[in-house]
Amino acid sequence: MSTELFVAHCPNCGNVFQKNLRNLCSTCMVEEDKQITAMEQALRRNRQLNNDQLAELSMVSVQRIRAYIRKGKLKLCDYPNLADACDLCAGPIRQGKLCIDCTVRIKEDIQLDLERSKQKRTQPIFLSRNSR
Ligand SMILES: [Zn+2]
Ligand SMILES: [Zn+2]
Repeated sequence: MSTELFVAHCPNCGNVFQKNLRNLCSTCMVEEDKQITAMEQALRRNRQLNNDQLAELSMVSVQRIRAYIRKGKLKLCDYPNLADACDLCAGPIRQGKLCIDCTVRIKEDIQLDLERSKQKRTQPIFLSRNSR
């Protein structure tokens, strides 16, 4: 049996590593642990930090902080001013992947699409020709 089946490219740095539960190579795992410890220390001193303040204090980039929040490494319920970012507009969100505005917009878009495809199916061709 070869171990080659169990190696992968680290999604963080691209190095080949032996697969594990965290899906990170050992270098990145150590780095991630360091970053999380730094963030936790900063937050222990001040729970009210927002993302930018936390980035400055912990030396972890805002993008990484967002990724940790998304992965559930930082619990937003414990920290009132931290926020994840909406996948579509990058606005602040506290749960899920999209902000309320985008959620509503997507729902409306889907609804519109549904209605449009319904109309297309039911409308006789001569009607659409005359309605110009
Ligand atoms: Zn790595
Ligand atoms: Zn949004």
